[in-house]
Amino acid sequence: MRCERVVYPAHCVATECPRLYAHEEDGVRWIGCIDKVYAGEVDLDRLLAQDAEHPGFGAVRAQRAPRAECRAAIDRTFPHRADGECTQPEFRTSFPEAPEGRDPLRTRPS
Ligand code: SF4
Repeated sequence: MRCERVVYPAHCVATECPRLYAHEEDGVRWIGCIDKVYAGEVDLDRLLAQDAEHPGFGAVRAQRAPRAECRAAIDRTFPHRADGECTQPEFRTSFPEAPEGRDPLRTRPS
């Protein structure tokens, strides 16, 4: 087990990110990221329904470095550790710098 970088597809939808694509197949509306910041596709209707009930739901593992427009975080494996929130500081700082005017990357609250 290890910490993972995650992004939030609900944020892609809410901000109408131009890198977001959608298509319909067998009655299901699927969304995905053109840049493959996250791999695979997400069922849009289920995502929106869950996000409405549980805001912030649906983080998925980032397979590439998040872009400036992404909402990104680190999903910690051991958030309860008494030693501090991360034992690998280089992991936290391995993201590109946050662009000006945008919050720097932060750990998802537990
Ligand atoms: S670039 Fe980021 S915000 Fe835009 S669709 Fe891809 S993951 Fe979502």
